[in-house]
Amino acid sequence: MKKTLKDIDVKNKKVLIRVDYNVPLDANLRITNDKRILATLPTIEYLLESNAAIILISHLGRPKGKVVKEMSLKPVSERLSKLLGKTVKFIGGDCISSESKKAAADLNPGEILLLENLRFHSEEEGKNTSGEKDKAVMDIFAKQLASMGEVFVQDAFGTVHRSHASTAGIVKYVKDVAAGFLVEKELKFLGGALENPASPFVAILGGAKVSDKINVVENLLNKVDSIIVGGAMAYTFLKSQGVSAGTSLVEDDKLDLAAELLKKAKERKVDFLLPVDHIITDKVDFANKRVPEGAVVKTTVDEAIPEEFMGVDVGPKAVEKFSEIIKNARTIVWNGPLGIFEINEFSKGTVKIAELVAESTDNGAVSVVGGGDSVAAIKKAGVDKRISHISTGGGASLEFLEGKELPGITALPDLK
Ligand code: AMP
Repeated sequence: MKKTLKDIDVKNKKVLIRVDYNVPLDANLRITNDKRILATLPTIEYLLESNAAIILISHLGRPKGKVVKEMSLKPVSERLSKLLGKTVKFIGGDCISSESKKAAADLNPGEILLLENLRFHSEEEGKNTSGEKDKAVMDIFAKQLASMGEVFVQDAFGTVHRSHASTAGIVKYVKDVAAGFLVEKELKFLGGALENPASPFVAILGGAKVSDKINVVENLLNKVDSIIVGGAMAYTFLKSQGVSAGTSLVEDDKLDLAAELLKKAKERKVDFLLPVDHIITDKVDFANKRVPEGAVVKTTVDEAIPEEFMGVDVGPKAVEKFSEIIKNARTIVWNGPLGIFEINEFSKGTVKIAELVAESTDNGAVSVVGGGDSVAAIKKAGVDKRISHISTGGGASLEFLEGKELPGITALPDLK
């Protein structure tokens, strides 16, 4: 168990919080989605109630060690001010300049300061100004950040899989360190699902590529009772068993590996479910996300896909089979859509699965959904409020499911 906010004394303290304010901006630098800002409010509000002085640090985009005006955190300071109904001070320029340090030093209890984009400094990502890896410069930068606060709170789940100055580096230089409420919740649900799952434990995996999720499948094979695979990933698995996949997206160089994973599943008595039928089409307009005029769309009778056709969604018989497993599950982890869900006609399988996961959760299962596309699917189905936990970190939650060590989490102190 990691130390969390309520385990440390923050009253009247100067508290540095690493947040993930890597929000999408349009051409006019307006924030198009503020869910990452909203996700930090519980931690910020708790600290305000504790009369702490709050210094927020974050990255935005990939400025690669240069000051990029368009990647300033200024719009975030304005949105956060509105959300809190309170001024959020913003200095700009350089997060460790003398102005930034003075603003931090002058900050009173109950006030909030947001520093400028950490990644304007290459040291944040452990690189020197020539772009070479250099741990010493990362440590110096981490120490400068640390000098501005008395307490450090890690609440940027989206970046804890990186070993950066503001994740793994800074904790050495601040006396009191803890996970914020957002990170605590991610650890509780993702960690809980993997370490102590109620059985039956079902993993649902989809998306474009097997190669992205090999390590997830490997790790989950030791933990789950069933794995449901949909999306384009499924065709590589099916083809590895000699089933025709037509023109579906298949990773031919991963066929042996797919066959190997299926063999392992059998040895470990994990029920590995692939779609028994599919929605197929002979044409897709990927660029415009639509079915082009004159395209033929049909449902297959079984798992085989005829030549000239590609699989774009799981079929009704597949959904029926998956539903039996999902209905009985007590723990569900889902990452990746089961079809090209961005195109309405091919989103039905994914939306139906989202509804089934919500229904199962209503009946007492714990459900954890991660990955941008599956979260979008959950929203499209209108069931997001009925899911136990929606993970905020795409890459981080995938690495968690792979069983990898997350440097930003490892660095946090354990509760003694
Ligand atoms: P990922 O980022 O790996 O979770 O992949 C998500 C992407 O996989 C989405 O953009 C989906 O459109 C795509 N996808 C899912 N099923 C298929 C399919 N049958 N054929 C092509 N792309 C798919």
